[in-house]
Amino acid sequence: DNKTHQGREKADRATRDQVLDQRTEAIIDHMVRKELISELQGVISTGKEANVYAAPLYTYDDEAGTQTGTHYRAAKIYKTSILSFVDRERYITGEHRFRGGGHKGNNRKMVKKWAEKEFRNLQRLNRAGLACPYPIQLKANVLLMEFLGDNEGHAYPRLRDVELEGVDDADIAQQWRSLYIQLLGLVQRLYQVCRLVHADLSEYNILYHERVLYIIDVSQSVGHDHPQTFDFLRMDLHNVGAFFRRKGVDTLRDRTVFEFVTAPGGAYTQHAEDPAADAAAAAEAIEQLYAARPKQPAEGAEGSETDKEALAALEVDNEVFRAQYIPQSLHQIYDEGMVARGDGPVGGAEALHAKDSLYRNLLAGDKEGEKEDDDEEEDDDDDDSDSDSD
Ligand code: ADP
Ligand code: MG
Repeated sequence: DNKTHQGREKADRATRDQVLDQRTEAIIDHMVRKELISELQGVISTGKEANVYAAPLYTYDDEAGTQTGTHYRAAKIYKTSILSFVDRERYITGEHRFRGGGHKGNNRKMVKKWAEKEFRNLQRLNRAGLACPYPIQLKANVLLMEFLGDNEGHAYPRLRDVELEGVDDADIAQQWRSLYIQLLGLVQRLYQVCRLVHADLSEYNILYHERVLYIIDVSQSVGHDHPQTFDFLRMDLHNVGAFFRRKGVDTLRDRTVFEFVTAPGGAYTQHAEDPAADAAAAAEAIEQLYAARPKQPAEGAEGSETDKEALAALEVDNEVFRAQYIPQSLHQIYDEGMVARGDGPVGGAEALHAKDSLYRNLLAGDKEGEKEDDDEEEDDDDDDSDSDSD
C-alpha cells in the first residue's frame, strides 16, 4: 500500500511537470490501480502531438515485502490541446473507417481517434509478425505498449542516432546495406500483408536494436483505400532512400523500390504466415533487382566521375518519379481515360514501361483488396463514451 502511494506521488509529480489534464491523470491513476504500470517515469520524448513516457511496473514479493523486479512499458499520451489537427486531417480524409465520424471541432474525440488508430495499426503489424511495440492497452488518449529498450528504462535508439559498430569500414557499410534491404522488405510486408502505408516513415520513426529495425509511430498510417496512399508510399520510400544514401548505401531507384513494394505476387504470397522466410525471400528479390540494373562502367575508383554520374542519374530519375502522377484506383484510370488514350508519362520508353507495370500492379491489387478492413470491428460510433469498459 505504501508502495502504491509512493508510486502515485511520483506519477503526480511527473504529470504535473508535463501538464497532463485531469482526465489523462485519471486514466494513468486507473492504470496504476490495475497494476498495468506502477508509475510514469521519465519522459522519453516530447512531440508536437504526443509525449512518450517510460512506465515501469514493479513486481513485489508480497510476503517479504520487497521489490523483485521492474518491467518497463511505454505510455504514449496524445496531447488533447494541440492545434495541429489541420495537418492531420488529410490522413483521415477518404478513409472509410473515419468517414462521417463527425470528429471535427472536438479535440478530445479527435485525439482519441488517433490513439485508436495507432493501437489498431500496431495490432495489424503485430499480427503480421513485423517488429514493432506490442499494444497493451488503450484508454482515450493514452496508449500503453511494449517498451522497446533495456531493463533500465533506456529506449532503443532511433535509426537516426545509430552508430553501427563493426570490425572495419567495409563491415559497417555492409551492415547499413543490410538494414536498407531489411527495411524495404518491411515496407513491402507492411503494404502487402498489413495493407498499410506508414505515411511518416523516416529514420525518426524506426528504432534499432541488434540488427533489427522496429517500426513505430503508426497513428497516421493509411490503408489502401485512402486516396493518397501512393503519394504517401512514394514519400516514405523517398525518405528511406535519402537516409541510406547519406549512410553511403548504393540505393535502388525510388520507382524500382515502389514497384517492388506494390507488385502483387511478391515474396509475401508464399510466406504471408512466415515473417522470417518472407524477409529472406524479399532480400533475395532485392538482390535480383540490384543484379538487373544496367551495368555501371568501371568498378572501383571511389568517388570517380562515373559514380557521380550514376548518382546524378539516380537523383534525376527519382525527381521524375516524384513528379509523375500515379493513379490511385481503377476509377481514376477509367475516369480520366488514361488507359484509353494511352497517355504516357514524361521520361521516354523506360518510364512508360514503368508506368505500365504500375497499372498492372494496381489492377491486380484492386481485385485482391476490395474489403480490406473486414477483420476490424467497426466500433467507431462509441465516441461519446469515455467510460471505463473493464
Ligand atoms: P511522435 O508522434 O511524437 O513522433 P513516436 O511514436 O514517434 O511519437 O514516439 C516518439 C519517440 O518516443 C520515438 O522516437 C522513440 O524514441 C520513443 N518511443 C516511442 N514508442 C516507444 C516504445 N514503444 N518503446 C521505446 N521508445 C519509444
Ligand atoms: Mg515519431
